[in-house]
Amino acid sequence: MLQCFFYGTGQSDEGICVELQIAQYSVLLDCGLRDLSVLQTLQPPDLILCSHADPDNSRSLLLLHQKFPDVPIYSSIVTAQLLELGSSSPLIQTLDWRSSTELLPNLTVQLFPAGHLPGAAIILLTDTSGETRDDRPQTLLYAPDLSLTNSRLTDGLKLEELRGLFPDVLIISGMYGTDRYPHRRQLETQLMETIDRALISGQSVLLPVPALGLAQEILILLRSHHLFSGRSVTVALDDAIADQCDRYEQIIPTFPSSIQNFARYQSLFLDSTIRPCIQRLPLCSKTVAVPQIILVSQPETSGQPLPALVQILMERGKWLLLFPHTSHHHFEMPALSTKSYALPNHCDGSTLPQVIHTLRPQHVVFIHGTPLKLLQLAELDDLNSRYKLHIPSSGTGLELPIADFFNAPPVPDVSYEGELIETETEILISLPRDLTADPRWKVLSNLGLIRAQWQGNSLIIRGISQRDPRLY
Ligand SMILES: [Zn+2]
Repeated sequence: MLQCFFYGTGQSDEGICVELQIAQYSVLLDCGLRDLSVLQTLQPPDLILCSHADPDNSRSLLLLHQKFPDVPIYSSIVTAQLLELGSSSPLIQTLDWRSSTELLPNLTVQLFPAGHLPGAAIILLTDTSGETRDDRPQTLLYAPDLSLTNSRLTDGLKLEELRGLFPDVLIISGMYGTDRYPHRRQLETQLMETIDRALISGQSVLLPVPALGLAQEILILLRSHHLFSGRSVTVALDDAIADQCDRYEQIIPTFPSSIQNFARYQSLFLDSTIRPCIQRLPLCSKTVAVPQIILVSQPETSGQPLPALVQILMERGKWLLLFPHTSHHHFEMPALSTKSYALPNHCDGSTLPQVIHTLRPQHVVFIHGTPLKLLQLAELDDLNSRYKLHIPSSGTGLELPIADFFNAPPVPDVSYEGELIETETEILISLPRDLTADPRWKVLSNLGLIRAQWQGNSLIIRGISQRDPRLY
């Protein structure tokens, strides 16, 4: 039996914090609570694990450390670098990717890259205390945020790494519910085109964004996208975003290789000597020209006024406000034209079931999404006919009995989404590598030849053998 108590499930904006009872220990998973008073009844845990540096997961780690100074806190190396909690002796101890570490007797912990954000981890906890009695180990996989899609600065989660883990319990984010999104590259292009059109029509663009993650993704797009690379445009950042950019400079060796190459020749973020010019918002507005693009960090609660300097700049010109589609909090804004855009960094309604079917857990616990989005997932027949699904509220506990033998019903065939690239001489189809984990892939790849055939408006791809032209 595994037991959890959810101090915060992230169903609204309370942040995430889960206490897990495993192998006679109390383990605290993340601490992004806005209000630490809900932890009043908590006894000192045996250890604290932080999945990633988003405020929802890490906001109150420092306060928690002050409350329990002797309890060790662990995270991935990059998460510790991004959090930099301002202590001279390092507050967070780090764990390498993938290596299984016995942090306490009979309790091992293993981290896998989750996609989503640099350093973000999926955490596997294994209770081996039953092994002396020949009981099999009990496992819980904590995956608060994850994404299979590559973003500019973070490679997506490699699903084949998780194949065969079969955790007893999976705690997972259902942020987007069953919503499906177009391919990320298409959405990136849409955003760049929206900004381009605004600038051409004489508007400046204001983007309130989370200071960590989305801000840097948008800046890299402005640096590298053909609509903006080399273009004489001024981009200004508030201090919170600029400080995070400085931290990102420290972790360049962990970025995808294309970005590392790019960084060899020019600055990724702040640099006023190249185009586009990216700089901090100046301290004084009187003499400064109005920047064409401003990124300000999204407020922690709704209805806060815009920074005074931004207000002054906005009085001097026409503006377009662009906000991310998932943003909960808005500034108190003057009336101006607004648009929203999506650059998703979580699994969506098509990839999340794919992850769950790959893991085949006994229990799935959905967190980090509005109750409506989480319910959409729990109502999927594909999921609720196979697994025990839970949607705990903040302030409640959950007992998770583990059956010795669990045979999840066979998994339906999943579909894979890829990209089409049309060149002058041919058409290339690229598909995610997880496809190769299926044993049928080997047969197809050994054949090495495929045949494409129209069926109505669909194009069906099959393997063909050289000797036997029958379809496989
Ligand atoms: Zn996150």
